[in-house]
Amino acid sequence: MNDNHAGSTGDADYELLVVGSANADLVVGVERRPAAGETVLGSDLAVHPGGKGGNQAVAAARLGARTALLARVGDDAHGTLLLDAQRAAGVDTAGVLVGGAPTGVALITVDPSGDNSIVVSPGANARLTPEDIRAAGPVLAAARVVSSQLEIPLETVAEVVRALRPGARFVLNPSPPAPLPAEVLAACDPLVVNEHEARVILGEDAGGAPEDWARGLLALGPRSVVITLGAEGALTADGSAGSPVRVPSPKVDAVDTTGAGDAFTAALGWRLGLGEDLPTAAAYAVRVGAAAVTRKGAQASYPTPSELPAAAP
Ligand code: ATP
Repeated sequence: MNDNHAGSTGDADYELLVVGSANADLVVGVERRPAAGETVLGSDLAVHPGGKGGNQAVAAARLGARTALLARVGDDAHGTLLLDAQRAAGVDTAGVLVGGAPTGVALITVDPSGDNSIVVSPGANARLTPEDIRAAGPVLAAARVVSSQLEIPLETVAEVVRALRPGARFVLNPSPPAPLPAEVLAACDPLVVNEHEARVILGEDAGGAPEDWARGLLALGPRSVVITLGAEGALTADGSAGSPVRVPSPKVDAVDTTGAGDAFTAALGWRLGLGEDLPTAAAYAVRVGAAAVTRKGAQASYPTPSELPAAAP
């Protein structure tokens, strides 16, 4: 593929490199959804920067992490919008590839009850290839923590694992959930899942409490596991150390949970790279997730350090 790059890599040391998706979320309010062959009128269009990769990068940068994004967007207006949002948050976009397909979009209709229907066109996200990862050696070599999700091809995520610099830490949120090759699972430190993802990955084995899920997930091969539990916070489990640990969330008035998991995962990965242990990093990440649910939207809801609630007592 003939690529433009969104910038050039200097002598960087990234505290977090996010390899993942970038989407434009196109949102229209409707009284009701159209039936086949029908047209309905909706509200004015709202366009928001999104995608799990883009969300994670913005969340980390807003917290003050030296952050880079490795992604692919189209050579179009949505791609420009997404790159502008990353740069405004302070994300290094040197690794963002431009061209090859239209920027990924999520077409979202929201009805008066708040229920939404979403069509995703992965576009350029689906064209982020293993070859792109191999060509991004300098960006990967500069990262002490690399975070991925599954809105890009799984074979690309597998190549990320192979391209990690020695000693670099790999964090994976397997969303949307899919069967993971052993090679990818073995690199996860941690594998970060919400309750839904835990159930899908464990399948029929997903009985019992989150502590049981954590043990079941560890048995699949990751070095550590974190399960997010919404308002309850999170649970951490280290393959090499003792029992799972509950990490409570601060109590907040939740307005919109969109993108809270992405903010949590980004914060977690960053803090682990600074040398914190898993429960300590998760205790920071639940404060970030809690702050994110107090405001509407995904990237628009992400806090700066001064906006974090105090830790749960
Ligand atoms: P989403 O898909 O909405 O981004 P998720 O389903 O992946 O999120 P959750 O477990 O719902 O993940 O939330 C992630 C984190 O966000 C939680 O671990 C917690 O820190 C925070 N969080 C979510 N909901 C609440 C809430 N109601 N009150 C406080 N914190 C919350």
